[in-house]
Amino acid sequence: MYINELLKIQENYNKIIKCNKVLKDNYCIQLLKKLKIEFEEKKKKYKEIEKELKSMKSLYETINEKENELNQKLKEDEYNLYNNAGSDFKLIKSLQERIKKSKLELNEIESKEIKILEKYEKIENDKKVLRKELEKLRDSFNNFKEESINKINKAKEDIKKSKEDIEKLEKSIDKLLLKEFKRIQCEKGETAISKVKNGVCLGCSMKVSSQTLDKLNIAKEIVYCDNCGRILYK
Ligand SMILES: [Zn+2]
Repeated sequence: MYINELLKIQENYNKIIKCNKVLKDNYCIQLLKKLKIEFEEKKKKYKEIEKELKSMKSLYETINEKENELNQKLKEDEYNLYNNAGSDFKLIKSLQERIKKSKLELNEIESKEIKILEKYEKIENDKKVLRKELEKLRDSFNNFKEESINKINKAKEDIKKSKEDIEKLEKSIDKLLLKEFKRIQCEKGETAISKVKNGVCLGCSMKVSSQTLDKLNIAKEIVYCDNCGRILYK
């Protein structure tokens, strides 16, 4: 009767249809593209932050150099004031003024330095957060890519296996019946063989005639649905 063989063929055809859907599904590719764009944007921001930190560092170094020079000058002036000015009032006055000015300038420089350091710390923190985000994005990109490749490879393998199985099954079936099966399959799209449950063909959801049911119960020949023409089985 070949019903089991036809069912297995049908099953394999359905598997192939399912696998082809996986192969055509471009959801994975779109998601990968989205992840990549997100990664590139964050990477760009990361590089900008690195650049900003570098320029802040060099600014700090410049200011620090100036601070050292001023400190040196201040020390010299103070030394001269206490050791070399003697009673030269003019010199004492000018030294005192310079010392006062230097101290003011040093104060300003120090508060500038503190501001830079605070800002630097904040940006460096942002950098750390961004770095973690980048790592996470890269990981999910790689995982998802691997997953997609595995899915695609599995679908390809399954299709190959189903095709081989169909070929083998087809060889074991009566040629005329196979031709008929394929004709119905072409006509109906996906299923050429359909189960009858409670007297209803599940292919078209219509009741089959009692004569057809009788023939199906005797199970001596291939029986077709009165309505949709599919091969019936119980
Ligand atoms: Zn039917």
